[in-house]
Amino acid sequence: MTLFSAIKNTTAAQLLTRAAALGLDLVIPPRCLSCGISIARGGDVCSACWRTLTFIDRPICNRCGLPFEIDIGPQALCAPCLGTSGRVTKFRAALAYDEASKQLVLPFKHADRLDCAPAFARWMARAGAELLGRSDLITAVPLHSKRLLARRYNQAAVLALAIGAETGVPAVPDLLVRIRATPSQGGLSHEGRRQNVRGAFAPNPSRIDRIKGARILIVDDVHTTGASLEEAARTLVGAGAIQVDALTLCRVVRATDMG
Ligand SMILES: [Zn+2]
Ligand SMILES: [Zn+2]
Repeated sequence: MTLFSAIKNTTAAQLLTRAAALGLDLVIPPRCLSCGISIARGGDVCSACWRTLTFIDRPICNRCGLPFEIDIGPQALCAPCLGTSGRVTKFRAALAYDEASKQLVLPFKHADRLDCAPAFARWMARAGAELLGRSDLITAVPLHSKRLLARRYNQAAVLALAIGAETGVPAVPDLLVRIRATPSQGGLSHEGRRQNVRGAFAPNPSRIDRIKGARILIVDDVHTTGASLEEAARTLVGAGAIQVDALTLCRVVRATDMG
């Protein structure tokens, strides 16, 4: 290191320390995670963007978390759940998947907006409080290694780690590996999606001990039909998990938002 760069670095380091001591956000001015306008406190959305987001709240289906128009009691199930016996015990999601939440999710998924993760984790921890309270571990729906190379990170693993940091529940994002690249799920029906992900995952051989006997919360960004989450749960139960719940940032509420 030259003397010049040493001086430059020291000065920068001193500035940062001073800024931190003064509580000033000199380096990254706090901005709304969605629209980018200046806000008082970083790591959040502005009040205008907040109002456009649809946070999912009760009344909901006690299994799949689908919002209900009217409250028919905390144990109520939607029609499909009355006739289903999936491997996921309960699904919960923080936001409805719509134009407003897409503005947050797509940059987080494709454009390195990892600064959104702590806020998403706070919202997800609130929506999934019941599930987090009964889970031993948090894990993530895995990406295929080819897609991981292209994107450089798995957004579901980032969310799992952020929720772990927010709640103290241990996060082990790599309980599963994706053994088969699946074509895009876009435009497929529920049954098509189920077929598409069949056999896509396997338990990570070095994590079998963590899966056996565990109650696991699996995390993903968007719950569309639930086919990937069900397949991941099937794989985890096959490897000895005793319960699997699913928590996502968003959930498709209207069929027209499936994409
Ligand atoms: Zn905003
Ligand atoms: Zn349901």
